[in-house]
Amino acid sequence: MSFPESSADIVIPLADEGKVVDLAKTLCPLLFSPLVIYLQGDLGAGKTTFARALIQSLGHKGRVKSPTYGLLESYQAGGFNVLHLDLYRIEAPGELDFLGLRDLFDNKSILLVEWPDRGGEFIPRADVIMQFGEDNEQRFVSLRTFSPAGHRVVARL
Ligand code: ADP
Ligand code: MG
Repeated sequence: MSFPESSADIVIPLADEGKVVDLAKTLCPLLFSPLVIYLQGDLGAGKTTFARALIQSLGHKGRVKSPTYGLLESYQAGGFNVLHLDLYRIEAPGELDFLGLRDLFDNKSILLVEWPDRGGEFIPRADVIMQFGEDNEQRFVSLRTFSPAGHRVVARL
């Protein structure tokens, strides 16, 4: 049976940062690798806040800084190799060539990507897209899956 191109959205309100941490904690035990999660939404929508909560919920004790300047931060956490990318400052996908993402991304990897569209073909396809936004001053995230792997994670939420 073929997998539908994408699933319906699951929308989760994120009234405050505590709710982001709750979501991260709920997701952690559902994760497996390899997995590609796109974090979409405007500047300030909450993408990095979620990535930080997830990486810390997986057990990382140190700082989780925004990769806006460094492009890529990586962590060993929860038995995974978590790669956190932020392509906001990329002007052309070719600028990612030097990163060698294809070599960094392996069976242990969970890839979290902010501004994935800017990476073009250098970024693997999403299993899950998390769209962060605001509606009537209410923050939310909507999740949509694009593969059986992504569906397996989100269906158990
Ligand atoms: P992005 O990475 O999408 O640009 P950030 O994660 O850096 O956005 O968040 C921008 C600001 O919004 C930060 O000050 C952060 O603390 C705050 N923030 C993020 N998510 C929430 C939320 N669910 N509720 C309240 N404040 C939030
Ligand atoms: Mg960010």
